[in-house]
Amino acid sequence: MSAAGGCIFCRIVAGEIPAEIVHSAEAAVAFLDVSPLADGHVLVVPRVHAARVEELPSAAAAGAFRVVAALSGPVRRALHADGLTIGVNDGEVTGQTVPHVHIHIVPRRFGDGAGSIHGMFQAGPRRPVGEIAAAIRRAAGER
Ligand code: AMP
Ligand code: ZN
Repeated sequence: MSAAGGCIFCRIVAGEIPAEIVHSAEAAVAFLDVSPLADGHVLVVPRVHAARVEELPSAAAAGAFRVVAALSGPVRRALHADGLTIGVNDGEVTGQTVPHVHIHIVPRRFGDGAGSIHGMFQAGPRRPVGEIAAAIRRAAGER
């Protein structure tokens, strides 16, 4: 068993269990999702174990997004897709089921009916954006 115990994505990264790997880089590995939301649904997985995006070392974060950028064109062209939805479920509340950071790349087509990320949320009153921005700046240690 690998250092990260039972983490299924650590085990794929370590080659302990099989996956349809489409790209392998220093910081991240990309493989096909076993239950694809569309043909060509790829997961980009940093090699280091981190459950949440906020826990990722910056080299792993940068390396993983480099893989996303490098693969976006090939995935779109290979699947003759019109575009891609690229996203991360970060935390159990969002529906994250595998607690090892992974970026979904899902090929999209006009008329596929899946909608946009905006469709996940209800319209409604929101706190003033200035107040929110100030709170985030404070938490980030910005002035
Ligand atoms: P999330 O809900 O964002 O945590 O997504 C986890 C994704 O991992 C789901 O889309 C699963 O279908 C996928 N998945 C789980 N186990 C495997 C596996 N062994 N190989 C490939 N994809 C997997
Ligand atoms: Zn892991």
